[in-house]
Amino acid sequence: MSHNASHILVHLLHCPVCALGPGRRVGLWLQGCSIHCEGCMSPDTWAFDGGNALDVDVLLSELSGFFDGTPPLDGLTISGGEPFDQPEALLRLLRGIGELGIQDILVFSGYRAETLLARYPEIPVLITALVDGPFEAGNETESGWKGSANQTMRLFRPEFEERYSRWAETQKGGLQMATNPRGIFIAGIPRQKDVAQILEKVASTILSGGEIPGRRRQRGFRGAAEPQGANELCPLEPE
Ligand code: SF4
Repeated sequence: MSHNASHILVHLLHCPVCALGPGRRVGLWLQGCSIHCEGCMSPDTWAFDGGNALDVDVLLSELSGFFDGTPPLDGLTISGGEPFDQPEALLRLLRGIGELGIQDILVFSGYRAETLLARYPEIPVLITALVDGPFEAGNETESGWKGSANQTMRLFRPEFEERYSRWAETQKGGLQMATNPRGIFIAGIPRQKDVAQILEKVASTILSGGEIPGRRRQRGFRGAAEPQGANELCPLEPE
């Protein structure tokens, strides 16, 4: 848990992300998670001494740059790690995002919504939608927007109801595979029964040279990372 309000631990910043929320989005993965769900797909995001500690204002400037581009993006997704394990910095970031005029902000958290709303009552005015609850291995779901059946989605802005309903109905566990300067990463939420097959596909992609079709612009930390290719929708759909 980090209580530094001026800096935020970032695991990854990527654009475009098309498998974590409606439309084309910026994906922000925060570093650090104290929940440690069994079967978590991202244990590399757990450590609080990993990632990059970014000044929140610098990160806001990075985000603003993404949303100034064309075609316009549909929103921002914040995941992790556990975003609310850095509560002061996260809330400061969310307030700044609101001031930038970014409308659609989806947050994934391993904490239950009731817990978060009791601790941070300003959540409904800061974010658009919250997917909550820990990942439960074995608690399989067919819904492609969550990893286990216990998780729920809270929508705080009624004007986005149609957008999120459509996304929840159509999201079938498709993933996005992309590269960054550190290697290949996967965005999205696989169905639990598809994980082994997907990991095999990733391994075979890497062994065959890691060529990923549909190269698009991406940026990394502090705007310093050079694009190395990223596909917008991934070849990792389960068969
Ligand atoms: S809350 Fe998320 S990042 Fe943390 S252990 Fe659970 S699934 Fe993994």
